[in-house]
Amino acid sequence: MKDILRIAIQKSGRLSEQSIKLINECGIHFNNGKSRLKAVSYNFPAEFLFLRDDDIPGYVEDGIADLGIVGENEMVEKDKDILLVKRLGFSKCRLSLAIPRDKEYPGPHYFEGKNIATSYTRILNQFLEKQQLSAQIHEISGSVEIAPSIGLADAVCDIVSSGSTLLSNGLKEVETIFRSEAVLIGNKAASEQKKSLIDQLVFRINSVQAGQGNKYILLNAPEESIDAIVDLLPGMRSPTVVPLATKGWHSIHSVVQEDQFWEVIEKLREAGAEGILVVPIEKMIV
Ligand code: ATP
Ligand code: MG
Repeated sequence: MKDILRIAIQKSGRLSEQSIKLINECGIHFNNGKSRLKAVSYNFPAEFLFLRDDDIPGYVEDGIADLGIVGENEMVEKDKDILLVKRLGFSKCRLSLAIPRDKEYPGPHYFEGKNIATSYTRILNQFLEKQQLSAQIHEISGSVEIAPSIGLADAVCDIVSSGSTLLSNGLKEVETIFRSEAVLIGNKAASEQKKSLIDQLVFRINSVQAGQGNKYILLNAPEESIDAIVDLLPGMRSPTVVPLATKGWHSIHSVVQEDQFWEVIEKLREAGAEGILVVPIEKMIV
């Protein structure tokens, strides 16, 4: 029988939409009725299990799923015997300690002897051990941020992205103890056939990520500016330079990295570039 990959993704929550988007951008499609727990792709040998994120590392360790997408925080907290196959760059957040807003914060020793509410006992323990602090950890599975206001704890250790939830619960963030993003995790004992499917998937993810990190740029330039502009635009090999119908003018095409983008644009204008167009790249095979 031909192997098919089983990929576990979050059923509903902060990872779900972007996990499915990434899979679709890899050209892998499936029909997913909202209430279904399983879906089979019709154009790639894969099926998808929709689960709570807490359960995904365990399913991947046991081989129920070959791959899974979870937050790195969940992967580390669950501490299962699995592979980190690839960082995915979305759902970036941090795990932080927060205390009531009106308290002064003198440094990590503030937490000595305190009662801290969290869903991330392992990661918090690692932090406390490193700081040689002892504190009581109060494990709760949700709505951690209300713990201080109802007298359940002196502080919380929870996921933060903008900090607005903390603020509206009268808390302030004082220490970041872990930074997280979505990760693709894998079972350690995948068959050769499955490994080759995983390689195909990772290759596609790399192409999607490279495309998203780059822009295609087209511009016009007079003859005398070409050398300076080509120096500014390394491209994948080197820029394309094609003559325009107007004598003495050329069109130059290249690829620029998103994070260097504005700086390069300024320099191109100074070098004499005109009519600059910037176009998204869907995929880039690197
Ligand atoms: P489930 O019902 O599947 O157990 P959950 O409530 O545990 O879901 P979510 O809140 O959906 O989890 O978050 C899933 C993951 O998304 C977190 O483990 C974290 O990695 C990431 N995450 C959480 N909050 C944010 C945020 N505010 N911004 C970005 N990423 C976040
Ligand atoms: Mg969860």
